[in-house]
Amino acid sequence: MGFSKKMATAATLVGLATVVLPKEADAQGPFPVQVQGQVQAGPASSQAGAQNLAPPPSCRNTADFGRWLATFRADATKAGITPRTIATALDGLTLDDSIIRRDRGQAFFSQSFLEFQGKLASQNRVTNGRSMLTKHKALFDRVEKEFGVPGTVITGLWALESDFGSGMGKLPVLRSLATLAYDCRRSDMFRAELIAALKIIDKGDLKPADMIGSWAGELGQTQFLPTHYDNYALDYDGDGKRDLFRSISDIVASSANYIRSIGWKAGEPWLEEVRVPEKLPWEQANLAVQHPRSQWAKWGVTRINGEPIPADNVPVSLHLLMGRNGPAFIAYRNFSVYTEWNKSLNYATTAAYLANRIGGAPQLNPGRAPVQVVDASGVKEMQILLARRGSDVGVPDGRLGVATRTAIRLAQQKFGMPADAYPSFELLERLRQGR
Ligand code: CA
Repeated sequence: MGFSKKMATAATLVGLATVVLPKEADAQGPFPVQVQGQVQAGPASSQAGAQNLAPPPSCRNTADFGRWLATFRADATKAGITPRTIATALDGLTLDDSIIRRDRGQAFFSQSFLEFQGKLASQNRVTNGRSMLTKHKALFDRVEKEFGVPGTVITGLWALESDFGSGMGKLPVLRSLATLAYDCRRSDMFRAELIAALKIIDKGDLKPADMIGSWAGELGQTQFLPTHYDNYALDYDGDGKRDLFRSISDIVASSANYIRSIGWKAGEPWLEEVRVPEKLPWEQANLAVQHPRSQWAKWGVTRINGEPIPADNVPVSLHLLMGRNGPAFIAYRNFSVYTEWNKSLNYATTAAYLANRIGGAPQLNPGRAPVQVVDASGVKEMQILLARRGSDVGVPDGRLGVATRTAIRLAQQKFGMPADAYPSFELLERLRQGR
């Protein structure tokens, strides 16, 4: 399977760690509204840093599954699903306990952006992406003309989600969705997804038996949530069905349609690797902060090959996932489409740069120096120490969320250290010593 959409937790927003979690229906955009040339503070709330896998204490599955399903069938009828679809999709459906265990599993592991990117943006995916673009050139040209989304962007995501259809998951999606809708942790979200899955069947796009996918209920070669499938999938080959499992035309056009719907601006770049100088007002390197390219050029940011970046007014953010010594990017406004596709900054940045690679860019530069990575227990200790100093870091969980990152930036500024919002052993030591 590919990646669960919207699975972000605070940890992944800053790219220190990757959390393999199911999607969050209510995940909000990780960054405040971006305004050209203005510096805006990151979100003050610690909410972003306090997402928790554990269900609320009041969460208990009271009704048995059979009784729950009967109620759900009545709701589906009210939602306008035909009796025939309800019968074919839901008759004999049983609970899958293993899905609930997976959903609640603390599958947290620390992985730096460079490790994540190195594994996922493989040469194989670059090569396969390029051959898909060649093989289906007419289709990609037509789709770019109609939707404004380049083929490299689509193939990068398609590669990461399912390797062009070779890994879409093997579980019956209706059973997974019903199990997660029955479970109390995120019932509302998965009820809506299950209803959307029934609508897809009702419209004749897929049959229940077609719906084989990931344990978190995503469908097809680009791993669409059923609600996204129902809202954005297109029948682009004109056979009367929106088939994101088998039709290349439907897959490519539907991806472009969804990407455009979440804000893609035709003709604009999304991410560019850059080189940063030794010194810079590092606190400005923040996806919530934009400056004209001319300002970054003045501060010494250059293209990766050392050539100057254009000194124009195009608003961009300096995007550092591993601090000032790690890989550096300028993020254009189209980059927000990637963080909407998947809230994990490791994922979003990997997918965005994979598109560049498929389009001919060289392998990622690891940055200026080997970056020492403070692991989750170090981050947790840092959070506790920052909280003691009065910073709001949410629940100390070892995950480097927006609130934690903001608190780190403030502590770095206070200590007169480069304020790149990335944890270092030096900062940890200073916090331990309280000076
Ligand atoms: Ca079709």
